[in-house]
Amino acid sequence: MTGERPVPVPPTNPETEPFWDATADGRLLLRSCADCKRVYHYPRRQCPECASTNTDWTEASGRGTVYSYTVTRRASEEYADATPYVLAYVELKEGPRMLTNIVDCDIERVEVDSRVEVVFDDTGSGRALPRFTLRVGD
Ligand SMILES: [Zn+2]
Repeated sequence: MTGERPVPVPPTNPETEPFWDATADGRLLLRSCADCKRVYHYPRRQCPECASTNTDWTEASGRGTVYSYTVTRRASEEYADATPYVLAYVELKEGPRMLTNIVDCDIERVEVDSRVEVVFDDTGSGRALPRFTLRVGD
């Protein structure tokens, strides 16, 4: 994104509250299933793979790769000044894919399989939006 990017306050519910609380500390949490070992996102108590409720929080590395992306060059309302910006699915090292933005980098360098790492955009509400930037080096 080149202009002012909106940082909307996320809606929460009891299942997602710990996820959003962790973003205030710059931590990215995922859910993991003790029965089938699947790690998943978005946060919910019941495993989407085996329906077990034997699930818990696990801290993600914050690293992954671009699975798919699109560059938005025209937008309306509060996003009009943020163009061009990248909307992407990032596949985290732990497996789950997150719908997010790729920010703070030359967006012309974003490609499928680009290595990325999480950054947190403060919403001003005590919570932050996890977005990703291109990773340089190891
Ligand atoms: Zn499971």
